[in-house]
Amino acid sequence: MSTPVKITAVHVYPLAIAGDASNDFPVACPMSIYPEYRPSRPLWRDNFGAMLVRIETDAGVEGIGYTSMGSLVCAVTIKLHLARLLIGQDPTRVERLNDILVRSTYHQGRDGFLMHAISALDLALWDIKGKLAESSVCNLLGGPVQESLPCYMTGYDADKVIRGGFTGLKIPLKYGPASGRDGLRTNVDDVAALREKLGPDRDIMLDCWMGLDVPYTLELARALEPYRVRWIEEPLLAGDIEGYRQLRSKWTSDTLIACGEHETLVRGAEPFMRDRLIDVWQADVTWAGGITEMQKIAGLAIAAGIKIIPHYGYTPWAAHFILACQASPAIEWYDLTGDLVGDEPLFTSDMVLKNGRLSPGTAPGFGIEVNWDMVEANLDRRLAFAEA
Ligand SMILES: [Mg+2]
Repeated sequence: MSTPVKITAVHVYPLAIAGDASNDFPVACPMSIYPEYRPSRPLWRDNFGAMLVRIETDAGVEGIGYTSMGSLVCAVTIKLHLARLLIGQDPTRVERLNDILVRSTYHQGRDGFLMHAISALDLALWDIKGKLAESSVCNLLGGPVQESLPCYMTGYDADKVIRGGFTGLKIPLKYGPASGRDGLRTNVDDVAALREKLGPDRDIMLDCWMGLDVPYTLELARALEPYRVRWIEEPLLAGDIEGYRQLRSKWTSDTLIACGEHETLVRGAEPFMRDRLIDVWQADVTWAGGITEMQKIAGLAIAAGIKIIPHYGYTPWAAHFILACQASPAIEWYDLTGDLVGDEPLFTSDMVLKNGRLSPGTAPGFGIEVNWDMVEANLDRRLAFAEA
């Protein structure tokens, strides 16, 4: 029997990356009840960007993990706590290591940037596992269910959706209940204008980012009936299980209810799945606990007949899971930050986007090539954890 591979080092790369275009106008959110914070998100939001992690092993193979938000907070928790639980361990025992990371942080909470950090580490371990097995992660997970999956775009540019062959466009809702009838009218007018631009066949999705309540969501859904909205996303606060139960019991629309972007772990998903409170679950692979946790969430979703369409599904770390998941019919393509698709992307992969459909790569692990010069140029150096 050969000696197990061992983890020798864990490196963190917190990144300072500019925010997305939705910083320039109101976006409904929990802070929308305060007029002084309503005009734009930078008035209240943190500026922690994405973070890459790199796990080294004594076999010379290294794993690259990622989380799209939480940068410095994640870097601190990994460098000062979680790294020592990994060093010296066999990286291929991902289930065991993920469980150790989760159990060792229960006293700190089970959500937020802490789970982003654990997700990034889990993904780096899967990358190592794939590289050691000379298999793509998608193939390790059972292989692609379909040859490719259709993508919808999150962004603003309807022409780009049509040109790129995407199935539809998801836009942020601007106003919540505190903005009254004028806000509701603007929300509906925005969707009406988008339907006009997209034509009858493409989907419209509306991201409400926890900014609504039950009565407003019901009224909005009724008002949007003529425009065929595919789903209303995250209307209520994360964790408001009773709110979603109430919404579901009064829902008469053909529009689907989506949420889960800000829920973590299989424990976060279970109450929604048990009673089929929603139609689409959107846990983010780089936030919710990594692929190890997403596999468990997928089991519940399949049993409940709920679709899994993860937030930020376009990154290779998410897409390898999604393409191997029978509950996932589509992928979110993000047209805002450009970390994957910009002129000088931070990382590239061998996944292929063609005519609005994404196919998995076949390179070992996630097939990620990191542009380390770009990482260096974008390091968040506000704390000393940023590494050269
Ligand atoms: Mg969302």
